[in-house]
Amino acid sequence: MIKIKNLHKHFGSLHVLKGIDLKVNNSEVVVLIGSSGSGKSTLLRCINFLEHKDPGGMIEIMGKDINPKKDDLNLIRQNVGMVFQHFNLFPHKSVLENIIEAPIFVKKISRKEATANALSLLAKVGLQDKANCYPSQLSGGQKQRVAIARALAMNPAIMLFDEPTSALDPELVNEVLQVMKELAREGMTMVVVTHEMGFAREVADRVIYMDDGIIVEEGAPHELFERPNQDRTINFLAKVI
Ligand code: ATP
Ligand code: MG
Repeated sequence: MIKIKNLHKHFGSLHVLKGIDLKVNNSEVVVLIGSSGSGKSTLLRCINFLEHKDPGGMIEIMGKDINPKKDDLNLIRQNVGMVFQHFNLFPHKSVLENIIEAPIFVKKISRKEATANALSLLAKVGLQDKANCYPSQLSGGQKQRVAIARALAMNPAIMLFDEPTSALDPELVNEVLQVMKELAREGMTMVVVTHEMGFAREVADRVIYMDDGIIVEEGAPHELFERPNQDRTINFLAKVI
């Protein structure tokens, strides 16, 4: 689904991604971990073309080698949903309007169909009774579940999550993780940046540890958590587990 070869990214003279190679298979759940500033968000943003990689290297999405200068990035982003730490909902639009906006205006589907789809997605994330609320009337966990429903409304093949629970009060974290677990069970291809090691252990097919712009080590959760090979991974895990 995703194939990345030799991805580099500079911000000015700051070399943030230093040759990332990564393959994510259909229905695979990959969890990215690593300290602050290691380049996790930048990697996700490159996969979604919110940032442009340096020249050279390759990002292939669903079998297509993407050239951001030539290809229609809006079309590619329809296949790659993204959920951020800070929900980024439109505050002046209702929950329902937040969800149907892109399907109607980007995908050109009818309001009726978009609404029916949105209501079924709201049911899926447990918020069918909140369709007419405004974001300010929701808890953080509810806002994040709306943000997930909004991303799913475009019917993406891949979902990227960048610390979706980091801004939430601890008692709200689980309701969001539950929705993500259900998505994983349904076979969604997911790349998740998170500090929730319990989620990584339970849901990830593969955990990737990044440091200073490179992938230091990766493996199945039980391998990486119980038998890390690299000193850097061992030191990091000692701090977070
Ligand atoms: P965190 O865990 O804190 O979210 P991260 O692993 O997601 O960290 P990134 O946000 O990818 O790290 O940032 C990697 C490096 O790139 C940091 O040094 C950051 O300051 C820098 N950086 C990120 N975005 C930009 C930008 N738009 N312009 C300049 N520098 C940036
Ligand atoms: Mg980040």
